[in-house]
Amino acid sequence: MGNISAISTAPGIGGVAIIRISGDSPLSIAEKMFRPTGKTKVADFEPYKMYVGEIDCGAFTDFGMCVYFKAPKSYTGEDMVEFHCHGGIAISRGVLKRTFELGARPATKGEFTKIAFLNGKMSLSSCEGLIDMINSESDGEVKAGYYLYREKLNAKVKNMQDRLTYALAYIEAGIDYPEEGVTEDNFDEILGTLKEVKRETDGIISSYRSGRKIRQGVKVAILGKPNAGKSSILNALLSYDKAIVSPVKGTTRDAVEGEIDIDGVRFFLYDTAGIRESDDEIESVGIERSRKIMKESDVCLIILDGSEELGDEDAEVLAETEGKPRIIAVNKTDIPQKNGISGDLYVSAKSGENIEDLKRALAEKAFDGKIDLNADFLTEERHFDALKRTSSSLENAIESFGGNTADLCTLDIKDAWDSLGEISGESANERIIDEIFGKFCVGK
Ligand code: GDP
Repeated sequence: MGNISAISTAPGIGGVAIIRISGDSPLSIAEKMFRPTGKTKVADFEPYKMYVGEIDCGAFTDFGMCVYFKAPKSYTGEDMVEFHCHGGIAISRGVLKRTFELGARPATKGEFTKIAFLNGKMSLSSCEGLIDMINSESDGEVKAGYYLYREKLNAKVKNMQDRLTYALAYIEAGIDYPEEGVTEDNFDEILGTLKEVKRETDGIISSYRSGRKIRQGVKVAILGKPNAGKSSILNALLSYDKAIVSPVKGTTRDAVEGEIDIDGVRFFLYDTAGIRESDDEIESVGIERSRKIMKESDVCLIILDGSEELGDEDAEVLAETEGKPRIIAVNKTDIPQKNGISGDLYVSAKSGENIEDLKRALAEKAFDGKIDLNADFLTEERHFDALKRTSSSLENAIESFGGNTADLCTLDIKDAWDSLGEISGESANERIIDEIFGKFCVGK
């Protein structure tokens, strides 16, 4: 079987770096490269206890610590050893290289966690929560990841699976031994169980609307005619959170103009070129792009210039966003206003008046009320898809229950059970599993 090893801390310069080994004999590798300062020999190390000593890398020696985790009480469920050396690129690589020379092979992305999953230490959803936490850029994402990581969703799913197993046992008994199957007494109970599990499934599904936004952030399209003050409003919103304003990042968010944190959730603000009819080819491209941003946004922020009469373009923007979650902000309250321009909020990008209220309004619009990060949310699309299939199989099962199609009913319940099992990983296929662990970094 052998051993795998990797640097588990981020590459770069830091106080300490951790090199991990997992497998059938990591301690025998430690014996060959760690010289404890104290009397205890490496072979006699007590598990879960830090020992100080020299880490001999061949080319050089560092001074650090070594800890042994005994199977099955370790992260992977196998025997593990960690070296804590000084943080630094050459030092950590040197320690790692030495473990390779002594027989370990390089761990692949997420391999430690994959072993933990295969050894039953973690469910698949817990592994996904962990990677979500590691990749988090807001409090909301960390909380949502932690919820999965700590098996909270998995516990709910398991409980639902147990109830389906119970219902299935009765119905199957009825097929095999009609005299012992579903009686009138428990008919209602079983139907009730199926309905209850479906209701619960639908409840979790409905939390995805908010959960998706907590995990991926909220997209806000800023719309309005030229000179209404869109860029100024964007800057005013950003200036409250200068510390987390991020420049344009990567290609997936190529149109992001700014990012703010409201109550632990990321909001991406997209400035647009405006939406109006135009014969100019270049302008049309910009307008098309604005329309696309508008369509993909979670909330539209419409800026009206309160110091001018409303024009055709304002009317167009208002008409196009009709029915979408939107906030109409009348801007430039610091200068004389035209009468009769109504909006949800009256703000001034220049003086900052009501900009804080505007943030609050954006959050409330995106989440249909106050953001409560302590509620349980469904955040992963994979889980959302699995639960939707669970719900539809249960609907079919409820429909055929009690009729002459008991076989069909049991098949539907089994399908529902399997769809739930995809969340824990019990019934997830190899491709999905590989895809999930491919998102991890090496060393986790
Ligand atoms: P955009 O074309 O919609 O992005 O508008 P800009 O943000 O570029 O603003 C257009 C003009 O309006 C600029 O001269 C701004 O200084 C001005 N402006 C924007 N917001 C305010 C405001 O709240 N008060 C006043 N008095 N002027 C503003």
